[in-house]
Amino acid sequence: MKVFLKKGREGPILRGHPWIFSGAIEKADPDSEDAAVAEVFDSRGNWLARGLYNPKSQIRVRILTWEKEEIDSSFFSRRLSQAAALRERFLFPYTNSYRVVNGEGDLLPGLVVDRYGDFLVCQFFTAGIDKLKEVVVDALSSLFKPKGIYERSEGGVRDEEELPPSVGVLAGEEPPELVRIEENQISFLADVRKGQKTGFFLDQRDNRALLSSLARDMTVLNCFAYTGGFAAYALKAGAKRVISVESSRSALDLARQSFDLNGFSVADQDLLRADAFSYLKSCTEQRDIVVLDPPSLAHKRGDVAAAAGSYKFLNLHALRLLKPGGLLLTFCCSQHLSLDLFQKIVFGAAVDAGRRVQIIKRVGHPPDHPVSLHHPEGEYLKGLLLQPLE
Ligand code: SAH
Repeated sequence: MKVFLKKGREGPILRGHPWIFSGAIEKADPDSEDAAVAEVFDSRGNWLARGLYNPKSQIRVRILTWEKEEIDSSFFSRRLSQAAALRERFLFPYTNSYRVVNGEGDLLPGLVVDRYGDFLVCQFFTAGIDKLKEVVVDALSSLFKPKGIYERSEGGVRDEEELPPSVGVLAGEEPPELVRIEENQISFLADVRKGQKTGFFLDQRDNRALLSSLARDMTVLNCFAYTGGFAAYALKAGAKRVISVESSRSALDLARQSFDLNGFSVADQDLLRADAFSYLKSCTEQRDIVVLDPPSLAHKRGDVAAAAGSYKFLNLHALRLLKPGGLLLTFCCSQHLSLDLFQKIVFGAAVDAGRRVQIIKRVGHPPDHPVSLHHPEGEYLKGLLLQPLE
């Protein structure tokens, strides 16, 4: 498969950006539409890079390498070893569950691999990487020797590529219904087969640790709690009371089980199944710390205006509920809203809430979710630790 770019469209590729949009392509070799790998040339026929070909996607090619190296099992072993070394350097021995491969951030576009104890959970998001599944699974098996490799390729980007969902065991044993994981000496139960994402929000680990450094003797309101990740860290740190608000019954059930596993006692009334928007609006009791970790409210660029209104609403009501000296830890996980825009939205919320607010810290991705400097689109998680001044 050969892809020739239009005249003058090679700049981003030469600078290391991994995506080629359909509009930049002059012609593609039509004989091999089914190929996984494409050779990329500029308009004069100079070889530029080698990437994954996605015939139905706007992002027609995702670059794997700027070297003339074969895309085979030893290529994936090299990339995976590099990814593993990064995690080893930053994460061990604090956790046995982390992101092993973060797509473009690890120069493996379209691929996400998360480790949950002895199991790996994979997501093959695009057509190109989907066709190389077997060789990727072999490389993962020989490098990590997991008990089992499970696939959760569904939703999001896969829909855009017109790929059907693909879920099930790829190698070894099927993971149990709940996998027990350890993170910073706290135990959690993760439903890796049916839970959100691949079962747990691994990306918030460092931000949960930040909360635990602040939570001693505090009352904490944890909105969009999922399986109680932030709540457990606050409880471990000795928070006075932690109230979790979450719309999913199954997530709250898992939170309860994880709390029990750690010996945290939490009253039923503090595991609240509710819509966080209505809860925040009607709540009148003030708290020391509020955590706001909503799901992505903008899935595409066109959603940004409506999402801005929702983020403002949440942050306004959260700021309103803070005691003097209180703290708001607020997040946005939509890649379509920049940190700059998110900060402006929160500023608007502070003005409307009538509070003068300090930024104590800006937070983002942990080391197992690296972002390529050449691909800032990969940065989705941003957070602000805020303190009203009065
Ligand atoms: N903070 C969590 C992750 C939160 S993900 C952690 O560290 O693990 C966002 C969560 O918000 C999901 O569990 C989702 O079920 C929940 N959610 C989505 N819409 C909601 C709403 N309107 N009210 C309450 N919870 C909601």
